[in-house]
Order: sequence, then C-alpha cells, then structure tokens
Amino acid sequence: MTTFRGLSAATPGAALQWREFEPPALRPHDVEIEVTHCGICHSDLHLIDDDWGISRFPLVPGHEVVGVVRDVGPAVDFLSVGQTVGVGWQSGACLHCDSCVSGHENHCARSEATCAGRPGGFADRLRTDGRFAFAIPDGADPASTAPLLCGGATVYSPLARFARAGAEVAVIGLGGLGHLAVRFAAAMGCRVTVLSSSSSKRADALDLGARDLASSTDAHELDAQRGRFDLIVSTVFSSLDWPRVVATLRPGGRLVLVGAPARPLAIPAAALLSDRWVGGSVIAGRSGIRDMLRFADAAGVGAVVESFAMDDANDALARLRAGDVRYRAVLRR
Ligand code: NAP
Ligand code: ZN
Repeated sequence: MTTFRGLSAATPGAALQWREFEPPALRPHDVEIEVTHCGICHSDLHLIDDDWGISRFPLVPGHEVVGVVRDVGPAVDFLSVGQTVGVGWQSGACLHCDSCVSGHENHCARSEATCAGRPGGFADRLRTDGRFAFAIPDGADPASTAPLLCGGATVYSPLARFARAGAEVAVIGLGGLGHLAVRFAAAMGCRVTVLSSSSSKRADALDLGARDLASSTDAHELDAQRGRFDLIVSTVFSSLDWPRVVATLRPGGRLVLVGAPARPLAIPAAALLSDRWVGGSVIAGRSGIRDMLRFADAAGVGAVVESFAMDDANDALARLRAGDVRYRAVLRR
C-alpha cells in the first residue's frame, strides 16, 4: 500500500500533526508531485478554522505548491517525470461548460479545490489533476514562486484586466496577496498606493514599489484620497468603512474584492451612481495563471518569503493568525 505523510488538522481549529494516509488513486490525468515548497495562504487558515463550512476533517491544507513530478497517469503526455510544476487553489473543473471553454475554469460550477475534500500540499506528496499543474519557468526560485500559484494569480487577474500603465491603483491590505498586488501593479507601470491598517508597513510598501501608504481604517486619511483611484484591489477579510472606500474611486473607477469580509458591504446606491463599480474576483483560469507566471518571470516578480520547515508549520500558522508574517510564509521540505 502507498502511504503519504501530511500535516493534518483533526478537527476545526486544531493544531496540525503529521499523519500517514492512503492517497487518492492516481486517475488517468493525475500527476503525483513530490512537494518541495508550499505557501501558506490565509485561505488555509480559513479552511483549518472551517470559516466557510466546506472543510472536511482530517484536513491536510496547502494549495500554493511547487514540487517535482514523480509519477503520471496514463493520459498525461503534457508533463513529464522530473519536471518542476506548481499547483494552486483549483484542481479540477468540467472542462466543457462555457466558462471552461472560454478560459475561465475558475468559474466552473464543478470546480474542485486542491485541499478541500482532498489532501493538499502540506505533505510529502500530492496527487492532483495534471491539467491544473503548471510548468515553472527554468531557474525560478521555488520558494518565492510557490505563493504566485494562488495569491499571485488572484491579484494579477484583476490587475491584468482593469489596470493600465499610469493608472492610480490602490491595494488594500499589505499581506500575502497585497504585497504581490503591489509588485505586479508597479511592474505594470501603475501608480500604487497601499491602504493599510498598519502604518509600520510604510517603508516596506515603498520598497515593494508603492508611492504612498495611507490608512485603510482612519476616516480622515481615507477622505484625503477621495476621487483618486482608477482601481482598488481589496485583499482584506475584515470589514472596512466601504462607503468611504468607494468614495476614493474616481468616476469610472472600480473596487475589486478578492478578500471576502463576512459582513455585507452596506454601500448606498447613491455612492455608485457616478459610474463607480464594485465587484469581485476569484483566483484565475488556467490561461490567466500561465500568463501570470510568464509576466512574473519576465518582470522579476516573486513573493517576499519567510521560510519555515514543515515541522514548524504550527509556528508559521500562529504568526499568520497574528498578522505577523512579512509577507508570505512558505513551508519547505
Ligand atoms: P494575509 O496575508 O493575512 O493578509 C491580509 C491583510 O489584511 C493583512 O496583512 C492586513 O494588512 C489586512 N488586515 C488584517 N486584519 C485586518 C483588520 N482587522 N482591518 C483591516 N485590515 C486588516 O492574507 P492573504 O493570504 O493575503 O489572504 C487575504 C484574503 O484573501 C483571505 O481572506 C483569503 O482567503 C482571500 N483569498 C481570496 C482568493 C480569491 O480567489 N478571491 C484567493 C486567495 C486568498 P494591513 O496590515 O496592511 O492592514
Ligand atoms: Zn489561496
């Protein structure tokens, strides 16, 4: 019998413990990946805490995987054993619906997730659909590349769609997703402002390519930005003063939520009438992820990483819970 070792939460909120498990069968399109690095996305914490009611326990989190292909199913002729690949949040889709055939597999009603319902990347090995595994560019640093697979793709997608060189772009929340949004937007030639609840992050924000940092929580500082932004990408999962945030958009401007606060936004319709738009974005389709990886490689965009041994995953999770990671924790084997 084949066994894998994974870091597993037995119940909601529990500390991770090493556990041996029998992996799911290797299906025709699957690959088996020896994990070398796995980023810790805040979605992993949401899953461990069962914030979304979709977690199945015991739960092996992890969906920002980089590793080496060690086995392939009989239908995999597009990846080879020994190749370095990355895997993000999504691990399956019907591949036939309108969303899938138009390159938006992320909107497929039959989308499957790498670590919800299946064991994820906080493990020695991972079996997953090879059609959702992406070749990593030669020479790319695996630690700073792993967070691109979920966090990078998620913020690149609305930027590639809505931002232009010279646009005024705000990024709310300088965390795992937010710091990558700053780097991508700066590399696209945007004028980037970070809206943060932590004034201590100013120097880092400027180092990452932002021109300015203002408070995301102080009413006066938000009011000082009124009518300024073409695009705001919000990565926070907490509630903000959304009418005030929307007022920082210029007419025609757009607020894109990638973090999902639990409470409704409560934005008066009148605040939107001057052609201001509020929407959301979820990860990216496969072509978007490939495009993001090429752009990141060409522009030298990678994550700022704090590296932890897998044995220290609970310390890394505690740091993330405390909002104390600069800026993405990555587990290495
Ligand atoms: P993270 O590293 O913890 O960063 C979140 C940031 O939010 C923090 O760094 C902090 O930035 C800000 N923040 C935290 N608490 C706050 C509060 N009480 N008030 C105001 N700001 C606060 O998390 P992440 O990995 O970037 O993930 C962010 C969210 O995106 C998570 O909810 C995750 O599930 C979600 N996500 C969505 C997608 C998608 O496809 N849409 C994909 C991946 C992740 P400052 O200190 O700068 O304020
Ligand atoms: Zn994620």
